[in-house]
Amino acid sequence: MLLETPIESLPATSPVTLHRFKTLGINTYFDLLNYFPFRHEDYSLITPISRIQEGEVVTVKGVIIQSKNEITRRGFRLQKITIQDESGRLTLTWINQPYLIHVLKEGMTVFVAGEVVRFAGKISIQPDQWEVAKEETIHTNRIVPVYSEIRGLSSKTIREKVFHVVSHLKNTDEPHDHMPGEVVKFNNILSLHQAYIGVHFPESKTHLIASRKRLGFDELLSLHLYSQMTRREWQQKKATHHFLLDNKKKLLIEKFINSLPFELTDDQKTSIDEIKLDLLKTHPMNRFLQGDVGSGKTVVAAIAAYLSYLNGFQTLIMAPTEILATQHYQTIQKLFKSLPLKIAIQTGSHKSMKKGGVYDIIIGTQALLTSSLTFDKVGLVVIDEQHRFGVAQRSLLKEKGKEPHLLTMTATPIPRTLALTLYGDLDLSTITQMPLGRLPIKTFLVPLAKRMAAYTWIEKKVREEKVQVFIICPLIEESESETLQTVKAAKKEYEHLKNEVFKNLKVSLLHGKLKPREKELVMKEFSDGKTDILVSTSVVEVGIDIPNASIMIIEGAERFGLAQLHQLRGRIGRGTVQSYCYLFSEIQDESKLKRLHFFAGTNNGVKLAEYDLGQRGSGNIFGTKQHGYLKLKIASLSDIELMRQAKSAAKYILEKYPHLFSLSTMQKQIEEVRIANN
Ligand code: ADP
Ligand code: MG
Repeated sequence: MLLETPIESLPATSPVTLHRFKTLGINTYFDLLNYFPFRHEDYSLITPISRIQEGEVVTVKGVIIQSKNEITRRGFRLQKITIQDESGRLTLTWINQPYLIHVLKEGMTVFVAGEVVRFAGKISIQPDQWEVAKEETIHTNRIVPVYSEIRGLSSKTIREKVFHVVSHLKNTDEPHDHMPGEVVKFNNILSLHQAYIGVHFPESKTHLIASRKRLGFDELLSLHLYSQMTRREWQQKKATHHFLLDNKKKLLIEKFINSLPFELTDDQKTSIDEIKLDLLKTHPMNRFLQGDVGSGKTVVAAIAAYLSYLNGFQTLIMAPTEILATQHYQTIQKLFKSLPLKIAIQTGSHKSMKKGGVYDIIIGTQALLTSSLTFDKVGLVVIDEQHRFGVAQRSLLKEKGKEPHLLTMTATPIPRTLALTLYGDLDLSTITQMPLGRLPIKTFLVPLAKRMAAYTWIEKKVREEKVQVFIICPLIEESESETLQTVKAAKKEYEHLKNEVFKNLKVSLLHGKLKPREKELVMKEFSDGKTDILVSTSVVEVGIDIPNASIMIIEGAERFGLAQLHQLRGRIGRGTVQSYCYLFSEIQDESKLKRLHFFAGTNNGVKLAEYDLGQRGSGNIFGTKQHGYLKLKIASLSDIELMRQAKSAAKYILEKYPHLFSLSTMQKQIEEVRIANN
């Protein structure tokens, strides 16, 4: 099998290069083929030299008539290579690459591709790509794939290696296409074989588009197959514990709701009704409660927990971090303070469960899963910020209580169509309204020149009104939320703010590398009002509720995705006073700031998510970028039509070919996609 060939078989490939591929998880030809280019450059048309125009990206073909090194007065070594075609001649210039003179010799025919620029007054090409003419070119004279350059691998190297595989692929019928013929026909998609060729080295733009469509179709199809299979499986389950809602219980719940210090919003009421109906069914609930930060999901969960209690069952509530678990513990205790529920917290560093004790609500982190605790009467499991938990963890959790009802909550706003694709195995409840009386947060993009003025204003606010401030430090590495470098930057910023900017205020520091106890202490001091300013990495992202914190600065705002910015901003605006969010950015480029301007203009999470989606999937297939919610390799989530096709194909396949795909093999793949969520 060609595609199982280890990359060691690639011709003229150094051990260093092989090693680099391996660190990317690329071990075989097949892996290499699945490393998709992130865009293509169209070098397929040859432009006569006399016709090139400044600003265009072109490919020219010519014979080298002169090739020489030149040394400038400043000591730079320039390589000047003059080429000629029937229409004219052109001199190309490289800097400090003297070896080129030995590669590009007089008399050779070459292709050169790049942008037409003016160099020392003369029109020329910025030689992005060049290649000596042979029968089939790789880097020029075609639509050329451009790969992400990582771990010391250049796009050019990757392109050469992939080209080798694709050339062989053309003589085989690999990879095997598992898609039923009628599905291929009906959806008008390419064969897998043609798609793998075309996604790298397409014959034409049409071929490229069709190739991306096929591979994107497969990707979305597995999402839908997974959802639909999981949903079917779920519906065949029997809930271990049966819930009842008689009049007495109804009254007690009403009484509890009336005892709350606020009136529930309509959306909260609807969600509660949906949950109640689910809990009365014989198969376990699998509901997803989506609601913007601060929309009041906790109390909805609490009411579900109360119903569980009234039926004599326990409820587990799991949060992604200790800080959040602690906060839930406090909130839940407060909500039930006049009722006899026994509530416990169980995290790595905070254990209130006593041996032999019987509890109605147990709050914790993932530690609950691996602990030796047995919960024999768990009727309901609530998972906050669902995207941080994986399927494996979820099933571990289920084992603890056999088949309890499951309520997962998230504040990550997701457009509805997307939610149905991503979480099609779950039922969806959405809270879009904010509790009454909340003042919308005012958000400003602060130009560099106004930074000091902002600091001064904030200091005044803190002194006069005793409000508190979050200062969020930028992410250093895009792919991870808490890297060492980010922590280092946060420490530096903290020192600077503490010793220079806010000398007279109490400043503290929070980051993910602190020990849980330290973190908790820092958070507690801040929430008790003992510190004025909390400098933090994005660990404060989810769930923290400190109503007195009404100002937030986000440094390096351009580095965060809109969804994440929105999450961060949700930490403020929780009290009754006006809240302010300041976005600091060193970037001047207005086009990059557009996104931030939009963000400053709305507090609506779903609108932001939709904007994000529209921006990223602007139909520009020559530059498809990754999406923030999930790491789809190729499909664009804004391609509603393809999503619709994949969805109905999934339904058809499950009916006609129920054993074509197995749930277990898809699980890992889907999990990877979903986990990329944060
Ligand atoms: P989230 O949905 O982000 O988890 P929380 O459940 O933490 O939001 O609620 C945020 C705050 O709003 C809490 O202080 C909570 O007591 C309060 N709250 C919840 N529902 C209402 C409501 N209907 N009216 C007023 N305040 C509410
Ligand atoms: Mg919450």
